[in-house]
Amino acid sequence: MAAPTTEIDWDKLGFSFMPTDFMYVAEVELGNDWEQGQLVPYGDISISPAAGVLNYGQGIFEGMKAQRTSDGEIVLFRTPSNAARMAAGADRLGMPPVPESLFVDAVKAAVSANARFVPPSGKGALYIRPCLWGSGAILGVAPAPKFTFMIYCCPVGPYFKGGMTPISLLVSEQFHRAAPGGQGGVKAIGNYAPGMVPSQEAKKQGFAEIIYLDAREKKYIEEVGAANFFCVKDGVVYTPELVGTILPGITRATVIQLARDMGHEVREERVDIAFALTADEAFCTGTAAVISPIGRLQHGSEAVEFCGGKVGEVTQKFYDTLIGIQLCSIPDPHGWVLHIEPEVLQRHSKL
Ligand SMILES: *Cc1c(COP(=O)(O)O)cnc(C)c1O
Repeated sequence: MAAPTTEIDWDKLGFSFMPTDFMYVAEVELGNDWEQGQLVPYGDISISPAAGVLNYGQGIFEGMKAQRTSDGEIVLFRTPSNAARMAAGADRLGMPPVPESLFVDAVKAAVSANARFVPPSGKGALYIRPCLWGSGAILGVAPAPKFTFMIYCCPVGPYFKGGMTPISLLVSEQFHRAAPGGQGGVKAIGNYAPGMVPSQEAKKQGFAEIIYLDAREKKYIEEVGAANFFCVKDGVVYTPELVGTILPGITRATVIQLARDMGHEVREERVDIAFALTADEAFCTGTAAVISPIGRLQHGSEAVEFCGGKVGEVTQKFYDTLIGIQLCSIPDPHGWVLHIEPEVLQRHSKL
């Protein structure tokens, strides 16, 4: 598989969008079964102004990373879980779910075709963005007559350059991310724009992100921006239980498993903000940063600092283990790492 291109200064790679060579596209009419799509040159697409996704938000996405190990091999992490999550999101939004084998194969094809954009080991990742949209024209509020499954990729630098840095978070007293019965539990495109202004306001006040509490009792922690929340007290690991308003993060599921493997008790339950303020350590999880330690948390006039603003011991242990498994430098007992076989490209004709 292609070595990293010399056209990019990998040491300067940040988190902004950059086009790659190819994207993957598959389409299906409502009522038909998905069939294998194609790799096409990366570029703008043409879509009806009346498309369901543009007018009514009938769209979901996924996010994952391909990385190079120290041997130069390109690996993925828990891709079938992303397939399952996208299928659940499709069901919720009235779209035909992409079968797991087609999804995984398409991700591998998109990564192989853009292999020269997978950064050298330790210099970042190729971020992979699968999207599923109601792309057909529809006037009334109903599922679109046609759906598009696309995957594009973009190289990104390491989230933390020079080690993890604890972040400072503000608990929102005004905004909520999701309500019971809504779409908070799926990666629906409509969930993200409403968080932009609250995030910007928190950033203006010097915080990295906002923490959302539940919309009903305004008491229990739901999420940190677009990441899942964890705290540790007396060695017990706590994370909000998945009650439909919380996005089931794959990093979240991974940390829960690793914590149990290491002998920690893990409690998935409602996490009262007042309790979280008394924790020993806190962190949040998501594909981009993997684990972000929380150094400071502010709720109204109350503010606490965890671990003197440093990275907690348990947090560091989870981070090192997870990164080690992802980059194949330690054993992968759960079979989470996927290797990309070179034949995958031969199964996909490139236009
Ligand atoms: C994607 C996402 C997460 C993290 O999920 P991962 O699978 O760990 O990347 C958490 N919360 C929200 C709202 C998200 O969109």
